Amino acid sequence: MWEDQIRKVVPYTPGEQPGRKVIKLNTNECPYPPSERVICALREADYESLRLYPDPLCLKLRKVIADYYGVTPENTFVGVGSDDVLSMCFLAFFAGKRPVLFPDITYSFYDVWASVYGIPFRTIPLTEDFTIRLSDYDRENGGIVICNPNAPTGASKPLSELEAFLERQQNSVVIVDEAYIDFGGESALRLIEKFENLCVVRTMSKSRALAGLRVGYAFGSARLIRYLNDVKFSVNSYTMNLPSLVGAAAAMEDEAYFQEIVSRVVKTRERVSKQLKRLGFQFCDPAANFVFVTHPGKPAEEIFDLLRQRDIYVRHFNRERIRNFLRISIGTDEEMDCLLKTLEEILGTAPRREGETT
Ligand SMILES: *Cc1c(COP(=O)(O)O)cnc(C)c1O
Repeated sequence: MWEDQIRKVVPYTPGEQPGRKVIKLNTNECPYPPSERVICALREADYESLRLYPDPLCLKLRKVIADYYGVTPENTFVGVGSDDVLSMCFLAFFAGKRPVLFPDITYSFYDVWASVYGIPFRTIPLTEDFTIRLSDYDRENGGIVICNPNAPTGASKPLSELEAFLERQQNSVVIVDEAYIDFGGESALRLIEKFENLCVVRTMSKSRALAGLRVGYAFGSARLIRYLNDVKFSVNSYTMNLPSLVGAAAAMEDEAYFQEIVSRVVKTRERVSKQLKRLGFQFCDPAANFVFVTHPGKPAEEIFDLLRQRDIYVRHFNRERIRNFLRISIGTDEEMDCLLKTLEEILGTAPRREGETT
């Protein structure tokens, strides 16, 4: 029976990518296009060199990223989106027998990587109000993964707490997934100088509007990054193709545009949060490019279906504790106005139109 010899896994379920035009607030993509500089760089790239393998060390891109953040290329790793970076981190850093710890409610890829690589893990429940209590992680472990700000809750941890935690956790690798850090919260990046076992992971998919290019990166001590590269070179030396190397470098060089799109998303988030509260939605203060909401008057799944019928896609996770929540990405102001209007109708809180009877 050949199937007995097969690795069977429950895969991660990505958010839907409908092929037609809908209001898409389900995968936390940036609602604005990438920088013009990225488009120019891609247009002008030397495509004749596609016959050659790309630089396996990705030195140019690592240098651009390192310079931007004030670290060295030896502290910097790049990969095919932060999913690839995180997957390599799991494979490289979590090879012990003790369980790797991460929250029960967090990025739902962590348990998938742990499972596919056969890494023992244990999930630690978030508190009642959906926050991470770091003292709960002070136990024997083979590594720790903290998403900050956390997904899908959007809650963030103060740096002082993370630093105190790292002081106590120096016997295993601690990964801090900062996919949303540009939208709020405090980065742990500076702590890589102090803690050799810290790995900070970032992505260009959200705040740099490049989900389609697939570029993620990580920072850590030179020693930690060497271990990560050893594993990467044991799986696939040429992860980064010419367009992603060229496009990602160009994105890092357009600071003004980056600041502009991030501040637009944050401004829209603040405005929409107030209006969602007025509609009766409950949620904690979001530090990311999404809000994670629940409504006491209508089950989340029902709202999800009604929105979907009207071509508005948000994310619903059919998982314990968060079944009655929806994660709504922050889109453009027009998209969010359309969402708010539709929610008003769905919840029956819309002012009655003229001529309408009960
Ligand atoms: C989106 C996301 C990622 C993966 O992003 P990539 O597109 O693979 O870079 C990783 N972690 C979290 C928490 C995310 O939300």
